[in-house]
Amino acid sequence: MADRELLRELTEAFGPSGFEDEPAAILARELGKVGKLSRDGLGSVVCEVRGGSERPRIMVSAHMDEVGFLVKSITKDGYIRLLPIGGWWPQVLLGQRVVVRTRKQDLHGVIGTKPPHELTEEERKKLPDIDEMYVDVGCTDGFDVGEELGVRRGDPIVPVSPFVEMANNLLMAKAWDDRGGCGMLVEAGRRIAAERHPNTVYLVGSVQEEVGLRGARTAAEVVNPDVAIALDVSLCCEHPGKPREEVEERLKNGAAILIHDRTMIPNTRLRDFVIGIADELEIPYHLTSVRGGYDTGEVHVHRTGVPSVVIGWPTRYIHAHAGILAAEDYDAAVDLVVAFIERFDEGAAESIRFS
Ligand SMILES: [Zn+2]
Repeated sequence: MADRELLRELTEAFGPSGFEDEPAAILARELGKVGKLSRDGLGSVVCEVRGGSERPRIMVSAHMDEVGFLVKSITKDGYIRLLPIGGWWPQVLLGQRVVVRTRKQDLHGVIGTKPPHELTEEERKKLPDIDEMYVDVGCTDGFDVGEELGVRRGDPIVPVSPFVEMANNLLMAKAWDDRGGCGMLVEAGRRIAAERHPNTVYLVGSVQEEVGLRGARTAAEVVNPDVAIALDVSLCCEHPGKPREEVEERLKNGAAILIHDRTMIPNTRLRDFVIGIADELEIPYHLTSVRGGYDTGEVHVHRTGVPSVVIGWPTRYIHAHAGILAAEDYDAAVDLVVAFIERFDEGAAESIRFS
């Protein structure tokens, strides 16, 4: 069952790409209880959990970074201009609270733009660009936010959005992408540490996924996996304009198994092995394709090629302040990855090998 306190801590942690210290500390604390820890040169956390056999080596990764911003510049009047880290849709930003982390302190601010009463008729017709927005941390005449508050270029910024348990077994928070996957690493780690598994598992909290899958690339060098699984959010395609029965990608439709993204076509034999487990154990699931990419986009082309799959869970409103997932979908995804680890032995690795 989803460990809600762990998920609260992980989603509320501060950690845009390149600033993953907080989520890394949580993962190191929790994964240190189940296996041998190391960090790579970019900062990814790698936890080795030895089972009954050294091979196959299974890399299970979730990225620790979240989408956010850097302080791009500070205007003379003390407004902070935004440098996006990861993909942002400008529409979701206006009027939202953020926290700016400076050397001295964390500052609360709000994202603003030229107010409606100042706009011309023409300007009112179009949506503002991120370039036209700014963060207001409380600047007024003669108050220097650099001097007084320590704000400087390059300081990281993330959304303010506390974790909440909603009705209907739904959970709302920022950064489900991919702190949800980080939670799954811990929960899967706890379960496999308590039993024998016929392989060696590497639980990886990767850095810098949102800016181009960079952490996964270096972590794959550390692990040198035989197979890889990325745990990450999948998308919800349900909305008021579309009848729910027409979309498989919807809340409470189980774990998601990827069939295609922009960076990878999952290994079909490994994918079918995962589907076979879900069918056998009656773990609810659906198939999905997404337009983005996951850590496995890098890992599957590591060295001579690594069979890889993605297991996700449908999440609404990713890359925004308040994403929503269903606890039972998250649990189904954890069950599926644990069942995979329990079953994927040398014989199974042989059965998916090209020959
Ligand atoms: Zn992600």
